[in-house]
Amino acid sequence: MNELPQRESVFCVDVFTIFPRMIDDYCAQSILGRAQDNNCLKVSTHDLRDFAADRHHSVDDTPFGGGPGMVMMPEPVFCAVESADIVRPLFLLSPAGAVFDQKKAQELASFRDERGRRGFSLLCGRYEGVDGRITKYLVDDEISIGDYVLAGGELAALAVIEAVARLLPEVLGNSESAEEESFSDGLLEYEHFTKPFDFRGMEVPEVLRSGNHAKIAEWRKASALYKTVCKRQDMLEKRGGLSRDELQLLVKYGYRTGPDN
Ligand code: SAM
Repeated sequence: MNELPQRESVFCVDVFTIFPRMIDDYCAQSILGRAQDNNCLKVSTHDLRDFAADRHHSVDDTPFGGGPGMVMMPEPVFCAVESADIVRPLFLLSPAGAVFDQKKAQELASFRDERGRRGFSLLCGRYEGVDGRITKYLVDDEISIGDYVLAGGELAALAVIEAVARLLPEVLGNSESAEEESFSDGLLEYEHFTKPFDFRGMEVPEVLRSGNHAKIAEWRKASALYKTVCKRQDMLEKRGGLSRDELQLLVKYGYRTGPDN
């Protein structure tokens, strides 16, 4: 008898935060909401205040050594994490982490732990950040979403969850669209156009209406190269510049081949 293909296990993301509703509300909408409704994704929040030891549900205290602000205490955070059967790695959102990018999103989207479970977990800091023992002994790594300082990790957590979830094959549906997107080939994505063909005298490139798929693919490659040449020289340098064929393609479509020419 033919065996039915095994359904992928649900992709689980556990989020530790003092503002669970921020995460729950966002993840109930749009693509993340649909993914959860279809049992492809499960985002579970854990309110750190539920693990506070005092009746005020305090999770922060003053810093040893003095200085401004408050620091998240180790006790509620350790207890919250230890009480849940989470999928690791557990990441602390932090400006000190490696900056999150599409490569990291792809890595997390295909991650499985030693028990075959898919997912990862996130800890959102607040105040001046978390006690150093949390960073050293509880989390597996840190993730930053850029070189600026947010008031808390929730927005960063949502950025990570959305970027990863939309790469799950069962979530995006059209997996080709993720393959062609910005960053997947070291390039930005080509320009998009929709109807009307002529909007106030501004016309869509004729080739896109030709029906010639090879020509359309070629134009899109040229458009992606040109956009990257204009906007992200750093990305081009990272992939070793432009090949001979790519230079010829840019010239063929009348695009410039460098930032200044
Ligand atoms: N005092 C910390 C510092 O200077 O690095 C900043 C703490 S910030 C006000 C509070 C929390 O926001 C952090 O613990 C972290 O969880 C989150 N956060 C802030 N900026 C972030 C970023 N760029 N990426 C990820 N998380 C961030």
